[in-house]
Amino acid sequence: MKPLRVTVLTKQVPKGDHDGRLDADGRLERGGNVTEMNPWCRRAVAQGVRLAQESGGRSTAITMGPPSAADVLREAMGWGIDDAVHLSDPVLAGSDCLVTARALAGVVDQADVVLVGASSVDGSTGAIGAMLAELLGLPFVGPVLDLEVEDHRVRAVVQYDNGTESVVVDLPAVVAVAERSCSPCKVPAEQWPAGDTIRHVTTAALPAARWGLTASPTRVTGVRPLGLTREPVIFRGTPKRQADRAIAELLARGCFDTFTHQPESLQTVPLPMNGPQAVVALTGPAPDECTRALLGSAAALAVEVGGSVVAVRTDDGADASDLVRWGADSVVSLTGDDPRPVAGVLAKCFADVAPWAVVAGALPWEREVLARLAVSLGAGLMSDLVSLSVNTDGLLVGLKPSGGGTLAEIVSYGSPQIATLRTGMLPLLRPREPHAFDHQVLPVEQDPAITRIDRRSGHEGDALDRAVVVIGVGRGVDPTQYGDLEPLRELLNAELAATRKVTDEGWLPHGRQLGITGRSVAPRMYFAVGLSGNHNHLAGASRAGTVLAINTDPAAPVFAHCDVGLVADWQEVMPHLVDGLRTRAGRADS
Ligand SMILES: Cc1cc2nc3c(=O)[nH]c(=O)nc-3n(C[C@H](O)[C@H](O)[C@H](O)COP(=O)(O)OP(=O)(O)OC[C@H]3O[C@@H](n4cnc5c(N)ncnc54)[C@H](O)[C@@H]3O)c2cc1C
Repeated sequence: MKPLRVTVLTKQVPKGDHDGRLDADGRLERGGNVTEMNPWCRRAVAQGVRLAQESGGRSTAITMGPPSAADVLREAMGWGIDDAVHLSDPVLAGSDCLVTARALAGVVDQADVVLVGASSVDGSTGAIGAMLAELLGLPFVGPVLDLEVEDHRVRAVVQYDNGTESVVVDLPAVVAVAERSCSPCKVPAEQWPAGDTIRHVTTAALPAARWGLTASPTRVTGVRPLGLTREPVIFRGTPKRQADRAIAELLARGCFDTFTHQPESLQTVPLPMNGPQAVVALTGPAPDECTRALLGSAAALAVEVGGSVVAVRTDDGADASDLVRWGADSVVSLTGDDPRPVAGVLAKCFADVAPWAVVAGALPWEREVLARLAVSLGAGLMSDLVSLSVNTDGLLVGLKPSGGGTLAEIVSYGSPQIATLRTGMLPLLRPREPHAFDHQVLPVEQDPAITRIDRRSGHEGDALDRAVVVIGVGRGVDPTQYGDLEPLRELLNAELAATRKVTDEGWLPHGRQLGITGRSVAPRMYFAVGLSGNHNHLAGASRAGTVLAINTDPAAPVFAHCDVGLVADWQEVMPHLVDGLRTRAGRADS
């Protein structure tokens, strides 16, 4: 193997359960927070050091941030990184992900492989890697669990919520490293080198451009409370008595009356208007429920701006008319699905006449396509939104779960306005009657730099997004006892979700994590079992119809944010809950 030049991007983030609040300009309040290296970047550094050392090459770590961010470079050097570059300049403050990616691309120099963390615990856009790849004209792959370099190529296993895919990517390439890919770089502070070899650069070293908040096409324009307030009814006493009273309370609340997804599903997908504004919805091939919810939301937005919806889908030969029932007014089928050429084809189409907005689910494939598109069109990307609306200036306003129990309000001033949405939060509207529609086929070449060995089948949006009942487990549930939750899960046809502490431990995959750095769902019922109820987690279940919490600690925050609370050991109360619910189900059947 030839000696590799490995570049690793690493970011400093607030440590632990900080409040994560945003200041008036929508920037993370860092004052007083203890900081650390972003957990995903720890893996990227570890992989980078390994690849450089195994190939006899050299590794360089780059960070962008205030003077204190040099600490993450010192820690990375303590782990074995050879060189470090610190990009720091007050004019960079407030840069959104597009401007950040541009600045970082200006510092990357002659790399065979550029490693990034798959996401960050504060910004959580997961878009920097793909944006950087587009800016550098490179292929992108991620989030990867395993990676090996051989003969100018990376062999990688990509992690998706519903499985993995093996790919081979030609170098140079940008690779996003998944959180469980390897042991993380962790070095005690007393063993960090002094950092006097760190190269410090400012924007003077970058190509001339505008930086910071004012140059950023997306901006945080406000912060709203998340609305976690409920009126909790808390039970104590023997496990059986608590379970009986909880079931009676759930019945009184009508929890089992109709198991439809959300009340909004009573509305029908609206018909299009005749205006020129187009909302492009990028969808997977076959319309699963996530795609349907996305199309319905796109249709609602299109009506607000007097326009119509263009569904752009990867073609698997499925009947396009089904998309029309769920919100599409015209359909474009792409003949290929490699993200780089897809983004290239779309960028060409949109260069002359930009649609008003482009939306897609917040999933890896869609993220890469839209991140690349945002770079090509200089348009910015609003990512991981839980809702979209139109403000009085006719601009899209997105809401994104943020720290401190808040939602950040984000506006895009770019054209088109590009956004990824957590489809689990979108209402599923009733399908409308089909109408005549245009269907265009756009040829998309394969990406010659990427070979997919075992293609993943199916669309990413999975059962958790649309589940009617979700059981969320926290660190209070030992993974060896997950089987004890099965009777409840089977009885209610529920999906399992988790807190970040659980996914950090690897007890359940990251795709099951709810919260500001995970997914958002709006089930009819959320069982919060053995989890403390930190707002960083509950942000992902804030629109659950009813929240039932089980926790041994009466002071656990979850009891302030649930509807029904049981102060009990979950293992003691669970059999009684299941028995009671089974008996009720038996009565309802007879
Ligand atoms: C920037 C940032 C982003 C974050 N993003 C997320 C996110 O997206 N999602 C997320 O989940 N977290 C996130 N976190 C972490 C979050 O702040 C909490 O630390 C985490 O949610 C707590 O997980 P937990 O409730 O499982 O663990 P703990 O806080 O350790 O709580 C375990 C609970 O289990 C209870 N318990 C123990 N044994 C039992 C038993 N036998 N029966 C019943 N109860 C029992 C305990 O009383 C305790 O309340 C984030 C943190 C930061 C700083």
